[in-house]
Amino acid sequence: MGSVVFIGAGPGAADLITLRGARQLARADVVLFDALTDPALRELAPKARWVNVGKRGFCDSTGQATINALLVKYATEVRVVVRLKGGDPSIFGRLEEELEALAQAGIECEVVPGVTAAIAAAAATQRPLTRRGNGRSVSLTTAMTRTGALHASRTADTEVFYMAGKQLAALSRRLIEARWPTDTPVSVVSCAGWPDQLHSDHSVATLPRASMLHAGRPTIVTVGAGAKPLAVATQPSAHTHRARLETLKP
Ligand code: SAH
Repeated sequence: MGSVVFIGAGPGAADLITLRGARQLARADVVLFDALTDPALRELAPKARWVNVGKRGFCDSTGQATINALLVKYATEVRVVVRLKGGDPSIFGRLEEELEALAQAGIECEVVPGVTAAIAAAAATQRPLTRRGNGRSVSLTTAMTRTGALHASRTADTEVFYMAGKQLAALSRRLIEARWPTDTPVSVVSCAGWPDQLHSDHSVATLPRASMLHAGRPTIVTVGAGAKPLAVATQPSAHTHRARLETLKP
């Protein structure tokens, strides 16, 4: 009986995986990977069998059940199965279901953390998610409920929304309903950590304008204290990933 290692691949560029993640990936016989992981990571496990189990948008339950079954099947056939997930496995990654399925089958697991998209977006824009004084709490939130309804609240000084990219206009309305002042800063970053990452600045009221720029791309929406540009900000550095970074004015 083999074991399963869940590895957070990080948000984009292959070099954002952790050293432990890279080392564990190199031991893999089979890798089950998601859509949002960098194909360049294959170089770390060239001999492994790579199985694409990626789903964009909503994971339907059949898809998830199939992935659970595949994990159990491969773990009984080979020594090391890697489950490679975008960002961090424990953030909106259906980790719970997969761990439970493996535990039920008596299969040993390990979880290697990764850089989640919210953190990658903060790094891309050089906007710390926590701020001394007025940015004391951060909430990682999915705007989508299980039924596909859009939900927004005001539970922290900085609210970071995952999976809201397709509905920025609706998110703006929901934020206003949740009593965020209309001039609250909102930072939108798509493909954070990728060479083609994009960034635009808005307010809660002007957020709908971000829709076109980020259409069809994985997007992080940061609202509140952590979205505010620094009082004194340098232009993005010569870092290669910044070359094509764009900024829209609110
Ligand atoms: N486990 C992942 C999140 C998976 S949910 C993590 O920790 O990052 C998928 C959502 O994550 C996308 O809809 C998008 O909102 C966000 N996301 C993932 N990768 C991203 C990236 N590189 N840039 C911006 N948003 C990203």
